[in-house]
Amino acid sequence: MTDYKNFKIETDADGIALVTWDMPGKSMNVLTAEVMDELDAIIDATVADAAVKGVVFTSGKSSFSGGADLSMIKSMFTLQAEEKAKDPAQAVEKLFALTGRMSGLYRKLETCGKPWVSAINGTCMGGAFELSLACHGRVASNAKSVKIALPEVKVGIFPGAGGTQRVPRLANAQDALQMMTTGSSLTGARAKAMGLVHQVVAPDELIPAAKQMIKDGLKPIAPWDEKGFKAPGGGIWTPASAQLWPAAPAILRRETAGNYPGALAILKCVYEGLQVPFDTALKIEQRYFTHILQTTEAFSMIRSLFISMQELGKGARRPAGVPKTEFKKVGIVGAGFMGASIGYVTAAAGIPVVLIDRDQEAADKGKSVCEGLTSGSVAKGRMSKEEGERLLSLITPTADYAALSDADLVIEAVFEDRDVKKAVAEKIEAVLPEGAIFASNTSTLPITGLAKNTKRPAQFIGIHFFSPVEKMMLTEVILGKETGDKALATALDYVAAIRKTPIVVNDTRGFYVNRCVFRYIGEAYDMLVEGVPAAMIENAAKMAGMPVGPLSLNDEVAVDLSYKIFKAAIADLGPQSVDPRHMELVTKMVEDGRLGRKAGKGFYDYPPKPQKKKLWPGLKALYPQQKPEEVDVKVLKERLLVTIALEAARTVEEGIVTDPREADVGSILGFGFAPYTGGTLSYIDGMGVATFVDLCEKLAAKYGDHFKPTPLLLDMAAKGETFYGRFDPYAKREAA
Ligand code: NAD
Repeated sequence: MTDYKNFKIETDADGIALVTWDMPGKSMNVLTAEVMDELDAIIDATVADAAVKGVVFTSGKSSFSGGADLSMIKSMFTLQAEEKAKDPAQAVEKLFALTGRMSGLYRKLETCGKPWVSAINGTCMGGAFELSLACHGRVASNAKSVKIALPEVKVGIFPGAGGTQRVPRLANAQDALQMMTTGSSLTGARAKAMGLVHQVVAPDELIPAAKQMIKDGLKPIAPWDEKGFKAPGGGIWTPASAQLWPAAPAILRRETAGNYPGALAILKCVYEGLQVPFDTALKIEQRYFTHILQTTEAFSMIRSLFISMQELGKGARRPAGVPKTEFKKVGIVGAGFMGASIGYVTAAAGIPVVLIDRDQEAADKGKSVCEGLTSGSVAKGRMSKEEGERLLSLITPTADYAALSDADLVIEAVFEDRDVKKAVAEKIEAVLPEGAIFASNTSTLPITGLAKNTKRPAQFIGIHFFSPVEKMMLTEVILGKETGDKALATALDYVAAIRKTPIVVNDTRGFYVNRCVFRYIGEAYDMLVEGVPAAMIENAAKMAGMPVGPLSLNDEVAVDLSYKIFKAAIADLGPQSVDPRHMELVTKMVEDGRLGRKAGKGFYDYPPKPQKKKLWPGLKALYPQQKPEEVDVKVLKERLLVTIALEAARTVEEGIVTDPREADVGSILGFGFAPYTGGTLSYIDGMGVATFVDLCEKLAAKYGDHFKPTPLLLDMAAKGETFYGRFDPYAKREAA
């Protein structure tokens, strides 16, 4: 058989060809045009070779495959845009043909006449699982690393290579919908229980078991190609389906508020596809897929949640030429709420940590927090007992600053108080080695100001974590005026080591994420003052696609934090910097002890578990209430998203955020900004800057000057520009 670039083929004495997918120079297999071409040729070759009785398909990497190469889809978008400008109808036809490529190839495999078995040795996602589904047999390893998923919905699309048709013909429709509309991962055992894989075996039995299926006479015919096939549960026209289908769109709407066309398309594909023969069903899927690929949601989500996130994670903003830091020791000073969890994530990355606090007892308390987090992870099966023990052995609690004398990086997370930070900075400086980097986790104090506490401001930087540190994927890296390249590179190396996604922003009050978050909360204060019922504010936020309502979020970050921020702003910038109605509301909450979740009461009341939190009824008495039917929910949704997006635009205008990818990714990972929009700036670009400006003007006329479009937006609207066009991150790199 010919040589292939991405596959190895070995045929054994029983005539079973073992096709091993192992792309050179890549840590993970992905489906590219070249891989599809080769696979096509392999199908032809194995069919033509009379010596081959069947094929076992597996991967030579530790994972099976991550699925389609989404950068291929990105270039498809670019091509589409160019072709649409020339001839829209033909562009769509071409897209339709392109989307059918993978699906057609898998159908060819399925009907090739020889049995194929997929041997799933590790993570198997998206298009790769769809490939496995087209094989006649599927065996998965029982290793912990095996995760099976069709996660396309998370980037705005759906399984468009037969997934929406094969899954509900193997599993019951409810499980199939659940799996595909949430994109959640299955273990091998769960996949087997659902009927998606035939066997789950120990890793070293994987290939023998797959071969055995062929030796045992596996039929090279998919169940749906057999006469009389019926989908599990009997298909659409059954009493059980009559229960499921009327409810399914309502459940989806409850979960997604109708914001995700990709998710709705899954329902349509399954419902319509199950009523027709398989090949027609694939055509239905192909049509919906072509449609979904043309949505703004798919474009923006793929760009932000896949491509940009990956680029930022791989150090898109890292200065070239600075050698990579391999961390031998990281010091954390302040072993409190944040410091302890920063210590935990650092040790989880295999880096030794010194955890310093005012005295040994306080430092030990920090370590005990790490112990709690570790035992939680062990209990949930996320790490083994031994891994947990190793993690904890890397954390040394102490009150002795001398332990920092060989640290590569120190992160300060003491009280948010300038004097305390100054005193601590002096102690750190006294012992910190020459080339080491000093970072602060401050959330409100400008980095340039804090840098004055050190003798080496070029080596001082902000590394701003979000709570809960072990769950939040984002880290904001803040450059002070004098921060140098080495500090930036080290900070980014550190963020990469702890496997979080960084955004790099210039210094400003609130940096990027908190500036946006407090606009969101501020708009909710406005609404409360106007007498909008609190439940409508919270629900409108969720309908707009936000994961947490603004009042709930304020309770989480603490209402007294808002109060402190207002006080600091008034002290530094004058009384006009804070809306007096906001100050009055927050002061009242604080005076009543309604400080948020930590106090058991805030905008919500927090009764003992298992009771759920409830909006505080007293909110109704604070302001004369509008009648719910007189409040326009659409406008509430717009106000909440627009105020955040406008703030993001201001940060770009002020030179705080310099790369649109960072604004978008930061907004989704930092505070869950309606992911279907692709993030704050994609939200603006998606509707068009001119439309956004009109919307801002309309809102400003009714709800206040804070909605007025900024000069940058007016200029961009006049010129017909987009953020990704005017601040093109790739042009910058090419020019450099
Ligand atoms: P915290 O009060 O829980 O912890 C502060 C710790 O610093 C305490 O353990 C305290 O004993 C220790 N400390 C105080 N003075 C010290 C000194 N002189 N020497 C050594 N240790 C000292 O506070 P936190 O919420 O963990 O916040 C710490 C920092 O992180 C602040 O700058 C805050 O702005 C920032 N931050 C907090 C959050 C959050 O959600 N809480 C989020 C991002 C950033």
